[in-house]
Amino acid sequence: MILVIAEHKDNKLKSITSELLVFAQRVSRDFGQPITAVAVGAGASVVAEELRKSKIDRVIVAESSELGEYNPDAYVQILSAIIEKESPFLVLIGHTTQGMDFAPRLAVACRKPLIAGCVEYEKQGDRLILTRQIFNAKMNMKTAPKGEPPFFATATPGAFPADELEAGGSAELVTFPVSFAAKPRRTVLERVEAPKGKTDLSSAPIIVSGGRGLKEKANFNLIFELAEALGASVGASRPVVDAEWLPREYQIGSSGQTVSPRLYIAVGISGAIQHLVGMQTARCIVAINKDADAPIFKVAHYGIVDDLFKVVPALTRICKDLKQA
Ligand SMILES: Cc1cc2nc3c(=O)[nH]c(=O)nc-3n(C[C@H](O)[C@H](O)[C@H](O)COP(=O)(O)OP(=O)(O)OC[C@H]3O[C@@H](n4cnc5c(N)ncnc54)[C@H](O)[C@@H]3O)c2cc1C
Repeated sequence: MILVIAEHKDNKLKSITSELLVFAQRVSRDFGQPITAVAVGAGASVVAEELRKSKIDRVIVAESSELGEYNPDAYVQILSAIIEKESPFLVLIGHTTQGMDFAPRLAVACRKPLIAGCVEYEKQGDRLILTRQIFNAKMNMKTAPKGEPPFFATATPGAFPADELEAGGSAELVTFPVSFAAKPRRTVLERVEAPKGKTDLSSAPIIVSGGRGLKEKANFNLIFELAEALGASVGASRPVVDAEWLPREYQIGSSGQTVSPRLYIAVGISGAIQHLVGMQTARCIVAINKDADAPIFKVAHYGIVDDLFKVVPALTRICKDLKQA
């Protein structure tokens, strides 16, 4: 069995959950393993209904008045009890702030290794080989978990396409009785959301991003105009933010936001590794750069080698015309 730990907030599933389910559906096809999703905590029964719409076999709900907001100690206690009872083959968790908070504790509690930040997997004979990115995504490492299952893995956001989730299941709903052998050692007093820009880039479906190739702040209007015509959000490379053309929350890359939109248009961005690690999981990357040898073209699906000051206004015009047509 493949156990997918659903991530949710305010009675809604987070997009990483769909990505984990896609990961699970692929592994399920290759290894002939059924899929069970687990929803823990406040709102679990609400999101369970959403989970049941996917093509999976079961949904386990662990909800109680004692278990309110996310708490790592409580999660580990409940999930290790579920894992002991279910003996899964693979446990999938999001490589998100929350996932990385409890996944290592859970793996240690079950005395199993954790393969963190997976972006792909393969089947070699009967063995599951997990691929993770290392050294700021400069290299991929293939890892075969040792010993007996369960194997624990976290999946990097954006690595598995949420829109490929197969629907159409009528998963069985199972309630798991929540009881705590020990009182959680930590109490979450308050959740303070980090201030965000106008848009949360991490969940933006289309991003138009500008770099130093725009030459000066005033020219960034070209990016905003194209973004508006496309209904997209705006992002930037670090030099743009360092030069104070835009606030820090627009920055994409290793020291900025990590994004995985359906479409990423990089305008006047060279494609330094620190930028690539923040956007290379985008489904479709379009690069506009006058230098045909710019590294951004190595990850781009489509490239336009030309002067951005010619190309961007033309693209904006076409998008506006198409909207009016
Ligand atoms: C510790 C560390 C962390 C970092 N974190 C980040 C990060 O989070 N995000 C990030 O982006 N960077 C980060 N950087 C910086 C990174 O190394 C690069 O310097 C940066 O990404 C380059 O930004 P750029 O592509 O906009 O500029 P450049 O590298 O200067 O590229 C500008 C591009 O525009 C093109 N161009 C110029 N004029 C035109 C024109 N008229 N038409 C078309 N194309 C044109 C050029 O050919 C060039 O490819 C970090 C660096 C370090 C050391």
